[in-house]
Amino acid sequence: MRETFLPFTRPDITAAEIDAVTEVLKSGWITTGPRAAELEEAFCEHLGCREAVAVCSATAGMHVLLAALDVGPGDEVITPAMTWVSTVNLIVLAGATPVFVDVDRDNLMVSAEAVAAAITPRTKLIVPVHFAGAVADLDALRRVAEAHGIPLVEDAAHAMGSVYRGTSDRGAAGQGTPVGRTGCAIFSFHAIKNVTTAEGGMLVTDQPELAERVRRLKFHGLGVDAFDRETQGRAPQAEVIEPGYKYNLPDVSAALGLAQLARLEEMNGRRRALAELYLERLAGIAALRPLSTPPWVATHAWHLMIVRVDDAETAVTRDELMAELKKRNVGTGVHFRAVHLQKYYRERFGYRPGMLPATEWSSDRMCSLPLFPAMTPADVDSVIEALEDVLGR
Ligand SMILES: *Cc1c(COP(=O)(O)O)cnc(C)c1O
Repeated sequence: MRETFLPFTRPDITAAEIDAVTEVLKSGWITTGPRAAELEEAFCEHLGCREAVAVCSATAGMHVLLAALDVGPGDEVITPAMTWVSTVNLIVLAGATPVFVDVDRDNLMVSAEAVAAAITPRTKLIVPVHFAGAVADLDALRRVAEAHGIPLVEDAAHAMGSVYRGTSDRGAAGQGTPVGRTGCAIFSFHAIKNVTTAEGGMLVTDQPELAERVRRLKFHGLGVDAFDRETQGRAPQAEVIEPGYKYNLPDVSAALGLAQLARLEEMNGRRRALAELYLERLAGIAALRPLSTPPWVATHAWHLMIVRVDDAETAVTRDELMAELKKRNVGTGVHFRAVHLQKYYRERFGYRPGMLPATEWSSDRMCSLPLFPAMTPADVDSVIEALEDVLGR
């Protein structure tokens, strides 16, 4: 058994990150300024996207996006219930109605067919989730969205470094397209994500008008922000063009993000090697079902290593497995408990089990095993050993 506790994740902070943050702290400018602008530019360069707007969380990014698209009462937003609660909470807070579509049981993502079947004249927005570091089938989803003239916004919280292989590249040697290069996507820099700023996020889009409105809405609805005024001497008395929020990303966080972004390939490479080792070793444990990687995923970012405890193969439940692993010094997490069956959503909308079978099947059985860049192959071995100990071979 392991002697030290292995958490399911841990941020990968090196001297480069510490130095970058220290420099900002000593500089005299700690809130949104040159580093935040640099992080936005670095994103555009790294992803090849047109516009990037730094925000204080992906949740904040989704909030301003819903506002920028005027999502409100009478509107429906299509999204999976296998997602983090933030998106659904914001849809409801905007006065709109979430419309859940079930996910594919093998990869936990929505298909274009399922989304198409949920479209009504009230559908205002479609929000697929790139799950665990894989990519949803973007070409097919975009075809459906475009055919109905409905915007599509990708929840890319798990997809920093994920690359999609489009229909035209499939089966060929094509390199694919990084998530975020085209369309509109929101990344998260929360402490557990592949790139972290402790808290933070980035909205990317190829539409300058949308970026402009998001930029304004994330900072009081002003035409220019404090840093622009200071450095460019622009309109010192900037006006409120429309009421906005206060969702800017401070430079302390942005400096951390820049140092992390510079290490993305290295960190994701380690995640990938560990994930491949896991998959090899998990193949010998019939009771555990990992997710499968769809053929359109050119690069998997391996944000999470998810398995489902298959009750056809073992009497051990997911909750028992998590408790037993904890006793053996192995931490786990649940990403995610289905949103539609949480108290508020059951009571407000009358949702009941049976509505979304694949979502619910995984929600009851899934757990995330430890996966983070500083883990070693020996750590993976110790997790497998603990799993075999609890489940039997
Ligand atoms: C983490 C996460 C979010 C929210 O990100 P924050 O930066 O914490 O607001 C949204 N969606 C998914 C799928 C996530 O995992």
